[in-house]
Formats: sequence, structure tokens, C-alpha cells
Amino acid sequence: YSFLQKIPKVELHAHLNGCIRPDTLFALAEEKGVTLSSHHFQPAKKNENNQNRYHTDDEDALLYNVQPRSLHDCFDMFAEIPRCVSDVTSLRRITFEALHDFAAHNVLYLELRTTPKVLNAECDKRQYLETVLGVMNEFEQSRTRPMTCRLIVAIDRSLSEQEACENVELAIDLRKSTLYADRIVGMDLGGNPTRGDFRIVRPHLERARQAGLRITLHCGEVADSGAMTSDHDDESSPPKYSETQAMLEFGPDRLGHALFVPNTLWSSQQRHIPVETCPMSNVMTLELAQHVRGHLIEGLQQHPQLREWLDTQYPLAIGTDDPGVFDTNPTKELWLLCRAFDLNVSMICRLVEQSVEYAFCDETTKRRLQKDIHEQMLLLL
Ligand code: 5GP
Repeated sequence: YSFLQKIPKVELHAHLNGCIRPDTLFALAEEKGVTLSSHHFQPAKKNENNQNRYHTDDEDALLYNVQPRSLHDCFDMFAEIPRCVSDVTSLRRITFEALHDFAAHNVLYLELRTTPKVLNAECDKRQYLETVLGVMNEFEQSRTRPMTCRLIVAIDRSLSEQEACENVELAIDLRKSTLYADRIVGMDLGGNPTRGDFRIVRPHLERARQAGLRITLHCGEVADSGAMTSDHDDESSPPKYSETQAMLEFGPDRLGHALFVPNTLWSSQQRHIPVETCPMSNVMTLELAQHVRGHLIEGLQQHPQLREWLDTQYPLAIGTDDPGVFDTNPTKELWLLCRAFDLNVSMICRLVEQSVEYAFCDETTKRRLQKDIHEQMLLLL
């Protein structure tokens, strides 16, 4: 674990509000008089050394410390966080803390994503994004840690088409400013996968793509009833709509999670779309560890795709998704992967180095990152 902590890393799948430190969430709730209704939020217990359990690197504690979080629980929790992050000051705070926490794990390149929100009369969606972008500028300039930060503007699929359209237009418009032109790199479609419809959002994502933004889609997080193209034996009935298939046909630059993509669809791909895979989040939302006495490693071994992806060297980027909600961090994700799939250090280093290729930043930044990562790895190995 301590070796993995030191290696340089790349984080391509992290949601800002899901990065909130639990301590910060409780502090903000108290400050704003918010009663957190989700029973999943519990004040952090301190261990014997008076350390917060969220910041432990005790391997045994990491292995068995599984707080059940179904997909449904997670979305209950996501609904609670914005009640506490309800003004610019708290938004700045959680952004600074998220950047600090990634940099502390030697993340050299971060793509953070967030859904723009109207926080109050002083903070509309544009100000929300400008606040996050401003913190990124400050963080990079302070050079406390050499982490390059980029922003992906997210669309919440459970909200209206108008919201999706606004987010796309805002991202396009903000990129016209020289201050943010390089920093905003893409759009994401996320939010509760059991709600909304990709077909409604698709034209807006197409517009974003035409404007030069890269696209990542949360895909196949839940089983898709129409996804089995081979089911369609009856020539007389119209084919079932498969969202997963429609997403792959759209041809995004990356896919998030991609847990339930049938083999027929993987093999029909023209090219291998890189997958952002988030081991801890997947173990939790698929409730994999519940079946194996709460053991994370055995849980991860039940992952529907990971072993195959690793065996076939499918293009992967390892992400944390929501460190505050899933009690995780970039080191823990790599460590779990090593333990569950018997990867050695050089395999992990190769995985990290390759994931730079799937980043949404420009080619010059990628080459610089690859060089920096490679040099740091050589010094460590
Ligand atoms: P925010 O966009 O508010 O900064 O980050 C939290 C939001 O990210 C959640 O409300 C949800 O819309 C999205 N999100 C976080 N984790 C997941 C996930 O695992 N799957 C999906 N589909 N959306 C997620």
C-alpha cells in the first residue's frame, strides 16, 4: 500500500460533490442547521490512534471496512450533499479539499466532473462553474503539488432536457474565455441510471461534441432490458430499444463503469472505447462484498468485467467515483485491484501510464504527463 501511495496517478472519474470529506459534510450540516436524513451518513469513528477511519491506511481495516451502499442508497446520499454545499464558500471549500486529497495521493492529472447548480441568488450555474474553475486555477498556481486539473461538465440524466441544454451551452460559452478554454475538456452524462432517457440528451451531447468537447457517458450501470440483440428473433416485432447499444453507437470518447454491456455489443464495437472503472464504487453499488462476508477483495473478484478487461488489456482508467461516499481514495483503488487480480507493481504502473492516453486534455499536456509519470516511476522501481 505504501508503495502504491507514492506512485504517480491519473484520475479521470471523480464527481466533485461525491468527493466531500465526511467531516466536512457534518461540519457544513451543523453550520447550516441541516439535519441529514440519510441514515448512511454517520459521524466518523476514531480508531485507537485517534485517527479518522476515513483516512486510515491500515490494510486490515481497509479490507473489511465495508459500509453497505446500494445504488439506491448512493442516490439518497447524493441528494443530501447539495443541502450542505449551498453557497460559494462551501463550494470553494469542498473543491479545495477534493484537489488537496487527490494531490496527496500523488495524482498528477485530475479530471474532475460536476453538475452545475443554482446554489442561491448570488450563485447561478455559471458562477458555480466559475467558482470550481477558479479554485483549480488557484490550486495549480500555488504549486503546493504539481497536479494538472481539468473540468468535465456533467449532465444529470434525472433532470429535464432544458437542464441538459443549459449545461452544454454553458460549457461551450465558458470555453470561449481564455481563462477557461483549456480547462473545460468534456461533458459527462450521469445521475440516477434508472431515470431519464439518453435519447433526449443525445442531440445536446452531439452539439457539445461538434463544439470540440469530449464526451464520457455513464453506461450499463444497471442491466438494460433491450440490450440483448440476440433476443430479437421475432422478425415481425420492432427491435427493443437498448440504451447501452444506443450509447455505444453514439461513439463517446469514454464510458463510465460499463458493467452490463453484453458480449455481443463489446464485440460489435468498431474501436475499443476506453472504460473508466471504479472498483470500490462497483463493489458497493453491485453489492458484491455482501455475498462474501463483507470482504472487499473477494467482492471485487465477482466484478462482471474486470478480470476479462485486465486479461485482454482492454483500455482502462481506474477512478474513485465518489471518495466521500464510498470511503475510498486513488491508492486504495489500485491496491484493491492488485490484491484481487494478483497484479504486480509493473502491471499497475503500466495501467496508470496507459490511462494518460484516454485523458481529454491536449496532446502536449499528455506527452508532458507521460514523461513526468514515467520518470517518477523509474525512480521508484
Ligand atoms: P456533482 O455532479 O453534484 O458534483 O456530484 C454528484 C453527482 O454525480 C450525483 O448527484 C450523481 O448525479 C453523479 N454521480 C456520482 N456517482 C455516480 C455514479 O456512480 N453513477 C452515476 N450514474 N452518477 C453518479
